[in-house]
Amino acid sequence: MNHFEEYCTKFVQSIGNKDGAVSPEITNSASFAYVTPENAEGIFDGSVKKPLYSRMGNPTTSKLESIMAEMDAGIGAVATSSGMGASSLAIMSIVSAGDEIISIGGLFGGTYALFSETLSRFKISTSFFDVDELENIKNAITDKTKLIFLESVGNPNMRLPDIKAISKIANEAGVALIVDNTITPLSISPLKLGADIVVYSTTKIISGNSSALGGCVVFRAINEDEDKFKTPRYKDLEKIINKAGKIALIPIAKKRALRDLGMSANAHASYQTMLGLETLPLRLPRIVKSVEIIAKELDKQGLDINHPSLSSHPHHERYLSDYKNGCGTLLTIDMQTKEAAFKFLNKTKLATITANIGDSRTLALHMSSTIYSDFDDETKTFLGITDGLIRISIGLENPQDIIDDFLNAAK
Ligand SMILES: *Cc1c(COP(=O)(O)O)cnc(C)c1O
Repeated sequence: MNHFEEYCTKFVQSIGNKDGAVSPEITNSASFAYVTPENAEGIFDGSVKKPLYSRMGNPTTSKLESIMAEMDAGIGAVATSSGMGASSLAIMSIVSAGDEIISIGGLFGGTYALFSETLSRFKISTSFFDVDELENIKNAITDKTKLIFLESVGNPNMRLPDIKAISKIANEAGVALIVDNTITPLSISPLKLGADIVVYSTTKIISGNSSALGGCVVFRAINEDEDKFKTPRYKDLEKIINKAGKIALIPIAKKRALRDLGMSANAHASYQTMLGLETLPLRLPRIVKSVEIIAKELDKQGLDINHPSLSSHPHHERYLSDYKNGCGTLLTIDMQTKEAAFKFLNKTKLATITANIGDSRTLALHMSSTIYSDFDDETKTFLGITDGLIRISIGLENPQDIIDDFLNAAK
């Protein structure tokens, strides 16, 4: 069975109800009545499994969370208000002032700013590495390193990490590995490759149509015997782990981040996200195929295309061996100058100019004048942001239509 086929059955079967309303119900309430004070006490101490308050969990959102957890073979998940909410939740539930983070790859602009501007204000420092700097990454790990953060595909530099090799480094050092798998849901399963936590912006290909902002964090189970989270490095998590056992990363996330920072998902967005998720295994393989066709033809026609499916790409071999289900919806075109990039964007008739990715429609954006406009030249160089760089997210259109439109726009 094709990798995506399995999920075609799973998602529609688990999202639809067989009794009553077929479409998932939206539980449109911020708070929940507890009936008796005894019940209230039980709900608060966790012995009664009923909703407490929508900041801490909502039945519609719970349904999304259980499907996302199953998708990634996790023990559980916490949905959030956005992808940045998901990254913040995962990171803030683990780090404290004085800790260090190692960030590898891409990097999505918001995540880079979270590390370099926001977390640094709270004395949490981050060092940044390219995906292939394995020795430097190993050497950068200290007693204070609490997290290694990795993007499954560099956005927008299109570099592909060797996730297995990086998780081996993380596991040998006993440091938690978070993978941002926004670009490759279903295609890459980070927990199976040795990661501890997966974060998503569901806003992108999971919803797939710009209808809902959202995020989700999926956690692995804590091992009953030895576990990196039971070592002195994570001493401040000990109490919750002793109490909650294998599901501990979920109460850790809820009590140490969600409860006090409030990046909670809302029921309407969770509903919209599930509608998107139902068709993800149909949309993604089509787009992955289109991206390869479009990259190949535009490259052949002389455009400066960056995509790992091209044999000229430094990670082409890795693409063939580790990314058999593709690396998502993105490719980039370098038009060399800002003027040429703007001319292209003014001439394309099919691409929608926007900051989003992973939509049903093809989207495009000039990088250095938008998302990265606040970044200095050195950072732009590290992140691969050149003057003429346009990021493209391919949609469901006929790939030949996109090729024709892009060749015309590039004239
Ligand atoms: C968009 C994106 C995010 C942030 O998600 P939002 O839903 O916009 O907050 C994080 N990581 C990656 C890779 C993204 O593409």
